[in-house]
Amino acid sequence: MKYLVFSKKILSEYGFIKRDLPWRTNTTIYNTWVSEIILQQTRVSQGINFYYRFIERFPNIETLAIANEEDVLKMWQGLGYYSRARNLHTAAKQIFFEMNGVFPSSFSELKKLKGVGKYTAAAIASICFNEPVAAIDGNVLRVLARYFGIETPINSSEGEKIFSSLAAKVLDNDQPGTFNQAMMEFGALKCTPKKPLCFECSLQSSCFAFSKGMAAVLPVKTKKGTVRDRFLNYIVLEYNDFLFFNKRTKNDIWKNLYDFPLIETTTNTLPEQFINSNQWNDLFKHEEVTLKNISDEIIHILSHQKIHARFYYLTIKTEKNFITQFNMINKLNIFELPLPKIIDNYIGKMDFIK
Ligand code: SF4
Repeated sequence: MKYLVFSKKILSEYGFIKRDLPWRTNTTIYNTWVSEIILQQTRVSQGINFYYRFIERFPNIETLAIANEEDVLKMWQGLGYYSRARNLHTAAKQIFFEMNGVFPSSFSELKKLKGVGKYTAAAIASICFNEPVAAIDGNVLRVLARYFGIETPINSSEGEKIFSSLAAKVLDNDQPGTFNQAMMEFGALKCTPKKPLCFECSLQSSCFAFSKGMAAVLPVKTKKGTVRDRFLNYIVLEYNDFLFFNKRTKNDIWKNLYDFPLIETTTNTLPEQFINSNQWNDLFKHEEVTLKNISDEIIHILSHQKIHARFYYLTIKTEKNFITQFNMINKLNIFELPLPKIIDNYIGKMDFIK
């Protein structure tokens, strides 16, 4: 009974708080899939413009499947977590070339697509195919933990079992897609991570967290992993109307995006040390360079890394020592490259591009 009461209240709340979102008004499988991938690590308010931009450039599975990867990454630029874009592209090719352009239509088949995990498969299967499977994201976990008073860490294996079982019990099997969206919307707009709107919440009278004053401490999450500091010294090489770029091909952050020639150091190296270092001297031993500008240290936070970057902007008289190692790009064409945000921001501030 308590599960039914909860489900009904969640659906009723949805009637009041549901936002008009583009992927809800034009519900194709493709649009739902793209929106779910964009929203994996991004809030709706931030992701919506990226969604419009992406759908305009790649309106269907065919346009995405036949696109080249750099175009896809370019459209993704600024959203971060670029493996999402690479996987989306790979899956589009899989569907278009190997499955005659027909989307898998069940939770278990959807999960086989590159980049589609349990949550995304459940969201698509329930919204597009009415399959009764619960989509469990951070919003859903928070709502369940608070309302039912579950203190098991949401990121533990025991927690995973408990929350999966509970989410399946509260799911409305007659309208699973609507219910899943209702849960996510409720978590995003009402039972928010900080300052939940308990005083205007219709679940308040039966909510464990509200009655015990525990909304601030639920859900419980165990701390995992540490943040790694990285020290990136970028060499911005200008030769006439060109700049040199490096395509990042290794399995590392920003794979297949472009940044500048880079010297990574293990510690924070001050500029006067760096321009007298062996690495600097090795790079420029046959070259006459003019150092024009050294940026301040720029901090860029990623999920598990803290980037400390500094940009050394210099001009060179000949391109020949660098042309084989790097991509020489005319300044007019730089913004066509997929660039990590930190590089895009830096270029945007530099006068030499204007
Ligand atoms: Fe969340 Fe507060 Fe509503 Fe409980 S009363 S479900 S904590 S918003």
